[in-house]
Amino acid sequence: MNPIESSSATAKTTQPEEFDLVILGGGTGSTIAAWTFAGEGKRVAVVERKYIGGSCPNIACLPSKNIIHSAKVATYFRRSKEFGIALKDFTIDMSGVRNRKRNMVIGLNDMYMENYWKTGAEFILGSGRFVAPRTVEVTLAGGTTRQLRGTNVIVSTGTRAALEAIPGLAGARALTHIEALELDEIPEHLLVIGGGYVGVEMSQAMRRFGSKVTVIDRSERLMSKEDPDVCEALRSLLEDEGIDIVLNARIQRVSGKSGQSISVVVEQGGSEKTLQGTHLLVAAGRIPNTEELALERAGVERTGRGYVKVDERLETTAPGVWAIGEVAGSPQFTHISVDDFRIVHANLTGGNRRTTGRQVPYCLFTDPELARIGLSETEAAAQGIPYRLFKVPMESNLRARTLSETRGFLKALVEANNDRILGFTAFGVAAGEILAAVQVAMIAGLPYTALRDAVLTHPTLVEGLIPLFSSAPSAHNVVETSGAQISAA
Ligand SMILES: Cc1cc2nc3c(=O)[nH]c(=O)nc-3n(C[C@H](O)[C@H](O)[C@H](O)COP(=O)(O)OP(=O)(O)OC[C@H]3O[C@@H](n4cnc5c(N)ncnc54)[C@H](O)[C@@H]3O)c2cc1C
Repeated sequence: MNPIESSSATAKTTQPEEFDLVILGGGTGSTIAAWTFAGEGKRVAVVERKYIGGSCPNIACLPSKNIIHSAKVATYFRRSKEFGIALKDFTIDMSGVRNRKRNMVIGLNDMYMENYWKTGAEFILGSGRFVAPRTVEVTLAGGTTRQLRGTNVIVSTGTRAALEAIPGLAGARALTHIEALELDEIPEHLLVIGGGYVGVEMSQAMRRFGSKVTVIDRSERLMSKEDPDVCEALRSLLEDEGIDIVLNARIQRVSGKSGQSISVVVEQGGSEKTLQGTHLLVAAGRIPNTEELALERAGVERTGRGYVKVDERLETTAPGVWAIGEVAGSPQFTHISVDDFRIVHANLTGGNRRTTGRQVPYCLFTDPELARIGLSETEAAAQGIPYRLFKVPMESNLRARTLSETRGFLKALVEANNDRILGFTAFGVAAGEILAAVQVAMIAGLPYTALRDAVLTHPTLVEGLIPLFSSAPSAHNVVETSGAQISAA
């Protein structure tokens, strides 16, 4: 019998089973929490309704990066002549693309289950909700139930794609990232609602597989929280690849069915416009999975937006109940859900850690990547922080030239009156990897000159930090005006 089934097949009990820790929702932070606490000798149960390891390895980070890599391979085929390799023709087999991803996911699931067995944490496949303080009832696949009471409970049920109340959308069978990552056909024309993280990554990948793609966003810019130069660089990247971008667009109504024919009517600049496609992907925000948890029975309050209310130590309004990851309103990244676990772990083992002031690095896995840590120029201006700006094109990176991947730039904000690095943005090949070197310098409190003067291996992409920090910075002082703040060079 499958070990998951065997652990799920326990008969219904009247008295709750006692655990040191019950975890509701099995995402990455939860998984590492389970293995760690169990490894420390605690009795741990994880309740997960569908995915071994949660979203990241099954339907989010890793599958999307897997598919994006196949799309990158397709561009290498397209560019083969540029590299001196003759190629007459090639075809993209989306079911082959999907199989590579599926095989990776199976491998990850196996690895996760092996760790559950090794650490002794119990993985229970079923849907959970509270029935009493620190007590969760799990409904197993066959309909039987188990009740689990934890000395402590961690809630980590994540978020899901939001489907706005747009006329026609509910019946349009729109794809979310889950279905889009399972496509075994190349959409003839994919309409994407949402020009944020998920929408932008998926748009580029699908375009590279050969789909015509139109991205629709209500903001003035794609990835609108980034600095204007970054948004502009992204826009021109996508447009150069042939993606249509429709901004400042308010969706009025949707008709048709994704997979057949779809029309999206948008209002843009006072007039209506109809966008026609074959498939529709919705990537316009996330909503927390809290409605079905009966949190009130456990004394756990929600915020106005439906997230689990937590303090800076990630404890909820109910003693002994903690929340981590996206459902706790934390920044929506896997590494943050893991750090959330570390905070709860510290707080349950005699420490006192808080979420305040921690670094939140992130990377958008377009090709080239966009990675950032610390302050952007916009944020520095909003907070009235003067800074020196170092900025160089990726062309100054000699390794990037060897790869013929010179699009983009590196920029860093350094405090005006000392040499502390305030923020770093990389838009370029392997930006996420370059970022890590700057992050380590920031953790160590090193001045930017330490990177400028370091002996870095040649030719590597990280070596590009030397020309960055050797370049002449421009000074930016913040000029406050009534209500608005502008950064003036
Ligand atoms: C397409 C996409 C790409 C992404 N790429 C990246 C990336 O490259 N890097 C990055 O850092 N982040 C990325 N993210 C974000 C990242 O996936 C999440 O931030 C991360 O997985 C942490 O999620 P979590 O642990 O809070 O929730 P999840 O991993 O979603 O875990 C919550 C789990 O709870 C389960 N659950 C919910 N309700 C119940 C219930 N009642 N009973 C039992 N189980 C329940 C769900 O099935 C789910 O498995 C991406 C997200 C998306 C959508």
